[in-house]
Amino acid sequence: MSKMYGGGMPGAGFGRMKFDDGQQKPNISKAMLLRIFNYFKPYWKQTMLVLFILLVSSLLGLLPPILIQRIVDHALPDKNMKLLVELVLISLGTTVVAGLLGVWQSYLNSFISQSIVYDMKNQMYTHLQRMPLQFFSAVKQGEVITRMTSDISGIQGVFNSTVINFASNLFVLSTTVATLVIMNWKLAIIGILIVPLFIIPTRKMGNVRWKLAKQTQEKMSEQNHIIQETLSISGYLLMKLFTREEKEYDSFRIINGESARLQIRESMAGRWFMMILSTFTSLGPMLIYLYGGYLFIHGEITVGAIISFVALLSRIYGPFGQMTNLYVDIKRSVALFERIFDYFDMKPGIVNRPDAQAVELTKQDIVFEDVCFAYQKDKQALEDISFTAASGTMTALVGPSGAGKTTITNLIPRLYEIDSGSIRIGGTDIRDMTLESLRSQIGLVTQDSYLFNGTIRENLLYAGSEASEEDMVKACKAAYIHDFIMELPDGYDTVVGNRGIKLSGGEKQRISIARVLLKNPSVIIMDEATSSLDTASEYYIQRAMHLLLQDKTSIVIAHRLSTIMAADKILVVKDGAIIEEGNHEELLLKNGVYTDLHSKQFERKAFSMDSQSPI
Ligand code: ADP
Repeated sequence: MSKMYGGGMPGAGFGRMKFDDGQQKPNISKAMLLRIFNYFKPYWKQTMLVLFILLVSSLLGLLPPILIQRIVDHALPDKNMKLLVELVLISLGTTVVAGLLGVWQSYLNSFISQSIVYDMKNQMYTHLQRMPLQFFSAVKQGEVITRMTSDISGIQGVFNSTVINFASNLFVLSTTVATLVIMNWKLAIIGILIVPLFIIPTRKMGNVRWKLAKQTQEKMSEQNHIIQETLSISGYLLMKLFTREEKEYDSFRIINGESARLQIRESMAGRWFMMILSTFTSLGPMLIYLYGGYLFIHGEITVGAIISFVALLSRIYGPFGQMTNLYVDIKRSVALFERIFDYFDMKPGIVNRPDAQAVELTKQDIVFEDVCFAYQKDKQALEDISFTAASGTMTALVGPSGAGKTTITNLIPRLYEIDSGSIRIGGTDIRDMTLESLRSQIGLVTQDSYLFNGTIRENLLYAGSEASEEDMVKACKAAYIHDFIMELPDGYDTVVGNRGIKLSGGEKQRISIARVLLKNPSVIIMDEATSSLDTASEYYIQRAMHLLLQDKTSIVIAHRLSTIMAADKILVVKDGAIIEEGNHEELLLKNGVYTDLHSKQFERKAFSMDSQSPI
């Protein structure tokens, strides 16, 4: 055992495992059940058919035990071969028919549960697409994937474990008990009397299994999270650079061990349960032989009836056991739905106002008026920001790292919603425009340009695939990236690696400039690359930027003096507020913060300023 968990884990014995007893019980309310029921509703016809098949199967299942009685009491004593063959054939026939019905029912089961999974996955995907940016930075990476995949996929078992189990057990139980009572009510009472013996251990076991299952699920999610974080490109780099391999391995090993132990416990809990059940199951037939034998000796009953009775009795113990477990299965299923509903209940981020219009901007003056914004309640990121970026001009944002420059730019395409004040473009409040029309007219070039795992062509055409080859080449030439792409082994069809890691920062940014050029929006927001770029890249980016921003309304987070000097307006941002405003000369004349920062830069002869620099 210790080998499996890498040996030296503290407290590795099962007995020493401590579990949190304060586990939340699922909320099995009427509203909850109704909500779950709604997912089954579109498939009610198939469900009805399944129920009908179950009823027929349970009736067919009664036949072979009843036929045994006829074989033993009539065919055999009368030495009637014809009757014997007939009875055996009928018995065989019912088994075959029941088997065929079972196949049909399995198909319907799969169809219903997979359809529900299909519906839920689609709903979840579109819901997650509408979640705000904050959600993705707050949620653990592995969690979204777990909910999308294993949680929702778990739902397919729900139909089988609850609806089908319940109906099938109910039909089998009611038909069999009725037959038993009709055959001999005294024997029936004895056979059924031992049933309560099942219920107590089942209840206890159910609770233990439920807790273990929930803990296992949580541990699996934690495990996925570690894998996601450390075995993804950025996490991997971080882990390597900070030589955290061993520490990460330790945490992985511990969680891996915990989840393995939990799973063993869960399966063992089930085993004990089965053992106890089988003991009680064999108790029933013994009592029947004893009491049935007594009745036979007194001439009240035939041998065939005893054999048939025992065969029928074996049909009820399984379903009884499962019925008492049904509560656990329902709890488990509801918990699964609850986890999914938790996500569905999260408010989507930013959505269109009911009266939002698709607006085609003719002028693009961007006006911020007393804009306040906070990521967290008690920490204001922006306070009373007011400025105008005139149509067709370039506005540069400068200031120290953490001042709020990126935040200002993110508010324009409504990646975040302002708390108060207003932002207008061309006279229209951005909240009165549909998100689609707003965002389609804004181009965003970030420092860490994201390229997805695909070809350069696919990345370039992401905004719209209708651009021609000619347009694409033209845009890449303008972004000074065409020659570079042509030198790659497959040109435009070269696959860029996971997150475009095979390209340098400068190359990625130039591709993303080409992407925005292809989109040709009227408003451009750009986070200029920092001085970490090599000189050649920097030169090309500067030229590409010049073309990109020409005749456009642009807001640039500027790190370079050349960009700052070319700007029509400079806003100096500090601590979430604009503290100075003007062009380069005007600001120098003011002899204020900008002058101070500028002269410091000048002294250092650093014309290119990194994001850590004061400007
Ligand atoms: P700049 O672009 O000037 O470097 P930012 O706009 O990125 O500054 O950040 C402004 C402030 O908001 C900083 O204090 C930063 O820590 C905080 N901030 C930025 N992004 C987030 C976020 N997603 N969640 C919470 N706080 C954030």
